[in-house]
Amino acid sequence: MAIDGTFLKGFYAQTLLLSVTVDANGQYLLLAWAVVESENKNSWEYFFQHLSYSIPQILNSTVISDRDKGLLSAEDILGPNVTRLLCLHHLKANFIKHYGRKHIALFWPIANATTNEEYQYAMSELRVNNPTAASYLQNVNAQMWVTAFIPDCARRRCGQRTSNTAERLNVILQNTRQLPIIELLKGIWEYVMNERFVRQQRIEMRITQPSSQPWPPSIRDKVQYARKNARKHLVIHATLTLGQAGNYIVDLIQRTCGCGVFQNTNLPCEHAVAYIWNMERYSTGLQLSSYIPVEYTSEAWQRTYANNLQPVQYDIIEETH
Ligand SMILES: [Zn+2]
Repeated sequence: MAIDGTFLKGFYAQTLLLSVTVDANGQYLLLAWAVVESENKNSWEYFFQHLSYSIPQILNSTVISDRDKGLLSAEDILGPNVTRLLCLHHLKANFIKHYGRKHIALFWPIANATTNEEYQYAMSELRVNNPTAASYLQNVNAQMWVTAFIPDCARRRCGQRTSNTAERLNVILQNTRQLPIIELLKGIWEYVMNERFVRQQRIEMRITQPSSQPWPPSIRDKVQYARKNARKHLVIHATLTLGQAGNYIVDLIQRTCGCGVFQNTNLPCEHAVAYIWNMERYSTGLQLSSYIPVEYTSEAWQRTYANNLQPVQYDIIEETH
C-alpha cells in the first residue's frame, strides 16, 4: 500500500490524503481518501484510524511513503506488524536536492544491492566520489530501502518501490482536485465506483473465455518475458533448489536471485525460470506455476472487484451539514 498527501488547489487550502494499492494485474486501486486541513500528526492519525477500521488487513501490510514528518509521528497507530518502506522516488529526489544529479548513477546500485557485499561496494564507490553524500544515505535506515536488507515479508511487494501510485492517481483526479470539498469527494467516489465496475466486467469477460489464462495479462507477460530470456542462461547445479543460472545465484527455497527481480516482484525472474526448467528434467516435481503466488492468479484478480461500491445521495449530505 502506498500513501501520499497532496495539496488541493481550490478556494480552501486543504490536503487530500490517499491510500493506493495494486491489483493482481498491476493496476492502481484507490483504497481510501480523506480531505484534511494539512499533513500533520492528527490528520494522519485520523486517516489511519479509519483506514485500519475499514480494512483491518492494513495492519499486516507494507506501507510505502515519503515519510513526511506528520506521517512519521502518526504511524505508531498502525502497530508493530506494518512494515514501513521508503519511497525510492522521494529518497532519490531528496538526494538530488542535496547533492545534485552528478552522483545519481551511484544511487541505484546501492538501492538495488541484493547482498551486504554489494551494498558495501556500491556505498564505497559513492564515498570515493562524495563522502558527505555517502554519509547521508548511510544514515537512512537500509531496512527501509535497500533490497538486501528489506524484511522478507515486505520484500514481496509486487515490484512496488515508490509511492508514485498515489501520485499517479493525483493526476487522474486532477480536474476533481479544484472542486469544493463535497463535489471533490463526490467526484472521487463516482470515479472509484465506476472504475471498479468497469474492471469487474472486463475481468468477468476475460476469465469466462475458453482461452482464459490462469493469470492476469500483466503477470502472463512477465512470465512469458522471463521464459523467453531463460533460454539464454547456462544452469549449474549445487542442489535441487540452489545453484547458478547465468551470472546469478538462484535460491528457490528463499525465492531469491542475485539479479534482485525474484525477491522484489515475488515472480520468478529469467534466471529462476531457467533453474526451474532445468530441474524439471530430473522429474523432481518442480513446476514454474508453483512459484507464482496465489495473489497473482486470475481468481485473486476477480476477488478484488467482487464487491461493488454503492451510489451515495450527496444532496442529503449537503443538507445535513
Ligand atoms: Zn534473476
